Amino acid sequence: MNPTITTFLTAHPSDVLDAGVDFVLDRVCGELGATGLAVWAALPATNRLCVRQDAACFDSSPGGLLFAPQARHYQASRLKPIVAPDAKGRDPLARIAAACDQRSTPLRVCVSATRTGLLAARHSEMAAKSFLDVASQKSLCPANPDVGAYLVGLARDLSESHHLAGVHFADFTIHWSEAFDPTLETGVEVADVVRTLLSVCFCESCRQAAGAAGVEFEPALALVKAVVEKGLAGSLGSDVCLKSILADGEPLAKYLNVQADVLSTLLERIRDACSCDLILDRPFNPPIADAVPNVDMSIPAAVATSVDALHDAATVACFAARRNEIRFTARALATAPASQVVTTMGDVARAGFAAIVLDDYGLLPETTFDAIRQGIRFARRSAG
Ligand SMILES: [Zn+2]
Repeated sequence: MNPTITTFLTAHPSDVLDAGVDFVLDRVCGELGATGLAVWAALPATNRLCVRQDAACFDSSPGGLLFAPQARHYQASRLKPIVAPDAKGRDPLARIAAACDQRSTPLRVCVSATRTGLLAARHSEMAAKSFLDVASQKSLCPANPDVGAYLVGLARDLSESHHLAGVHFADFTIHWSEAFDPTLETGVEVADVVRTLLSVCFCESCRQAAGAAGVEFEPALALVKAVVEKGLAGSLGSDVCLKSILADGEPLAKYLNVQADVLSTLLERIRDACSCDLILDRPFNPPIADAVPNVDMSIPAAVATSVDALHDAATVACFAARRNEIRFTARALATAPASQVVTTMGDVARAGFAAIVLDDYGLLPETTFDAIRQGIRFARRSAG
């Protein structure tokens, strides 16, 4: 049984500052009873549409850092941080951190590890690359040494410059993210397994890492090419899944294992640089993480990004044993019946999770807050 459970509500700094930091903290930690607040500090490009004070509101940002970075932390990397245009000269994180400090409210930051706005588009030589040698406009490849050094510097910068309860890394993964872009047009319906293979990175750094481990990238690339081409021709059997492909395709399995090892090694460096808790999103989808489970998720607490994972007894046992966390998306909170939100949060607490992370303050309709308040109380009671 889990003695305590903490809860964090995530928010975009602009939503917190627009409504007033004190107002939001009163609401999140007072009225709703959450333990603390988590705000984005390194943001991917975002478009958000929601209702605020009964009026439709559209936010668009190319992304970037939402704090003033200290240059000394990034000297080991040719990748230099880019501050989001709307955060320049404002340092939203410092203002929120000061208010949290004053109230002794735990503050976490959320960080996009590979998709922070504009970085991949400006540094195609450090971006993930598909088997077609197309550099991603959105995702960096963390196998690239400059990207690795940048992420280590980012963790050190954030945790040394602010009083934080944790740094929460999202999208810490090696993949060509355009493969999952909903605007990617294809002639036939492309199965998830095809998108997953399409997302496998074959950038120079990944090829070199494979070579250094004695693994040839060419046969892995040939296998990816063959499956993607079959998928696009509509001739891939419906029973083909990643596990069956990897069972028959040892070169690809070995290549993906090298990438998992690269991520594990980098994760250790980031943990060592981070002077507060490190939390990592464990992606259930795309499913490579499940098929290639070798990334050492025990280093930081891992966050399950899908509530569906709760229905998998083995996953719950594994996560609970590691005192990990679970994240509810704003969509899940806003669309599920209130009673289900409340009971699920109780189930999470009973399953032994250490924390519940709730997305995202600015997107949640007013009608969901009562269920969240009840859910947090129920989770606390269920945990105790
Ligand atoms: Zn790569």
